[in-house]
Amino acid sequence: MDSFSPSTQLRAKLSALFHGGKLPHALLIEGGTQQQRAAAARYVAQMMHCLEPTPFPCGVCRACKKSEADSNPDTLIIEKPEDKAAFKKETVKEITSDAYVLPNESEVKVYVFLEFQYMRPESQNVLLKTLEEPPERARFILTADSLNSLIPTVQSRVTPVNIGYSQQSPVLEQVREIADGIAECVASSDEYSLLKSTAVLEKEKQLVQPVLEYLLLIFRDAAVCRAGGTSMTTDGEIAKKLASSVQQKNLAGLVSGIQELEAAIQRNANSTLLLTRLCSTLYGKAHE
Ligand SMILES: [Zn+2]
Repeated sequence: MDSFSPSTQLRAKLSALFHGGKLPHALLIEGGTQQQRAAAARYVAQMMHCLEPTPFPCGVCRACKKSEADSNPDTLIIEKPEDKAAFKKETVKEITSDAYVLPNESEVKVYVFLEFQYMRPESQNVLLKTLEEPPERARFILTADSLNSLIPTVQSRVTPVNIGYSQQSPVLEQVREIADGIAECVASSDEYSLLKSTAVLEKEKQLVQPVLEYLLLIFRDAAVCRAGGTSMTTDGEIAKKLASSVQQKNLAGLVSGIQELEAAIQRNANSTLLLTRLCSTLYGKAHE
């Protein structure tokens, strides 16, 4: 089971989706980690079933108890089979007819599709009709790494909620600041400042991995931005700068370069060497 439970801030954000007591028919939870997305989706499902008239799930009513035990008969969690690369089209078809069957106990029936990026476009198309004209008492919650994983027609039918780095904590702030600084130097191709901006990590070795992860998000955003997309995980400022100064193939090189460094961390590579490698990777990949 997920040990993650949404932070107070995130719960407030999700509860704010209740505009006058009504949630959108289809919601997309993007950003954050896979576990965070799944937990947020379960939280929203619980919120939809709660019997108390509060903006938050009360946690004590019969419906909440069942949701928390993952045994609410009106919440269906759909995932791709473990041994398959994608959701099964037949499963998606079954859901589209099941959505017309009334809920067992609750006001609504909630279908949670976890990690929707694993749904092939043809299957997404099967679901599209149901999203366009949703049965009165059916609700859909999708989770995905990014809105861009959905085909445009499905994108236009869901209300996206980004749960990524909006949940701020002091450490996260610090990680973000360092990563932004580094990315800024990559954008301006200033090698000396780049050395200086990564030097901070010599004293803060525990931040190396989170900084790399955040850099990865920035570079991915820059690639999205360069390709004309608008859905970003970070605040997008630095990503836009990068998109205008670094070529698409070099952005892809930066992404794979960071991934290689992350793999090196997994192998317990020497951290001083790692930082040297970080600098040469960032400078080299951005300008080769
Ligand atoms: Zn409740």
